[in-house]
Amino acid sequence: MITVQLKPKKEESLLRFHPWVFSGAIQRIEGKPAEGELVKVVDANRNFLAVGHYQIGSIAVRVVSFVDEKIDEKFWDTKIQRAYSMRKSLGLIAENNNTYRLVHGEGDTLPGLIIDVYDDTAVMQAHSIGMHEMKDVLAKSIVRNIPEVKNVYYKSETTLPFKAAINPEDGYLIGKESIDLNAIENGLKFQVDWLKGQKTGFFVDQRENRSLLERYSKGKSVLNMFCYTGGFSVYALRGGATLVHSVDSSAKAIDLTNKNVEVNFQVDSRHAAFAEDAFKYLNNLHELEQKYDVIVLDPPAFAKHRDALRNALKGYKRLNAKAFEQIKPGGILFTFSCSQVVNKDQFRLAVFSAAAESKRNVRILHQLSQPADHPINIYHPEGEYLKGLVLWVE
Ligand code: SAH
Repeated sequence: MITVQLKPKKEESLLRFHPWVFSGAIQRIEGKPAEGELVKVVDANRNFLAVGHYQIGSIAVRVVSFVDEKIDEKFWDTKIQRAYSMRKSLGLIAENNNTYRLVHGEGDTLPGLIIDVYDDTAVMQAHSIGMHEMKDVLAKSIVRNIPEVKNVYYKSETTLPFKAAINPEDGYLIGKESIDLNAIENGLKFQVDWLKGQKTGFFVDQRENRSLLERYSKGKSVLNMFCYTGGFSVYALRGGATLVHSVDSSAKAIDLTNKNVEVNFQVDSRHAAFAEDAFKYLNNLHELEQKYDVIVLDPPAFAKHRDALRNALKGYKRLNAKAFEQIKPGGILFTFSCSQVVNKDQFRLAVFSAAAESKRNVRILHQLSQPADHPINIYHPEGEYLKGLVLWVE
């Protein structure tokens, strides 16, 4: 294994189990590792620190082990088994819930790897070349260790660095398209389309937050803005909402939402879905004089990089200001940000500014985050990305 030696004093973050080695911390590389190759990281005095996947870029090594051990099939099996047994022990894999995230990157000490499970199919996504290289070993390990999973679909065409020129192809590594896939989340059925859908086909990370919406939906009119597959809408309907409007700019998302309402409730006259831009929809409500008791705002990440932070914060403020204008007195606003570069305080400040502008009396009822199958490695705080506020608006 090629050795990567760090500059003096650059070992500190690794001694605290942070799983990344930045290129600026490296003194020298003994040899020429290929991208994705496993390398051994040592300090300036050549003491062992970690083993990880090498890649060209600002994060040069993503650590898979802090122990000097053999990285073989058994090693990957143990990682998958640990991820699975945690979800199982937390009750996330049960008869009424077979939709869950099995591996959440650094949160499961597997940097660069995401695996979501839908019934008998696992959808795997590599964000690093090292994990891309491991895809077949990982797929076999999933099927060997997870009794329910029969098919593994690989979807990394858009998540791997473009410059690496590895041209990953999406497709089934094991098994094939499940003809009677029955993805269930908290007893609700969902059609998941990983072939054409966003990310792995479904946003598993909002499961608990959707449940909370269900609790507050009885007798309420609900607007689910940025609905995608209609997750929040279906929970609101089961919770006894009197009316649910789902909005997304993508026509495909609206189709999926309508399908998901249908598979759970057949025809439901309480629900209507609109393919429309969020701001346009919210602006037009003035004319329609339509107001809602509950509004959900779950937009895509407004900032994907640090440079976009200022504009993203402005975007969150503008969007939330619109919701404060359109929500009924005694209304409940569920507002989210999934931008990793926007932290909890910055997001709260953006929502605070929007609230102040509306001059309405606003109270924080809940501060939401990501669920247990999207764990945050305590040594890698960057893994915290989903933030939500539930507000009482008078
Ligand atoms: N709430 C969803 C996930 C939302 S993902 C869930 O629980 O699964 C973000 C969605 O916002 C995507 O479906 C995307 O099509 C939609 N979107 C992006 N820009 C938009 C815009 N300007 N107006 C309305 N929808 C938009």
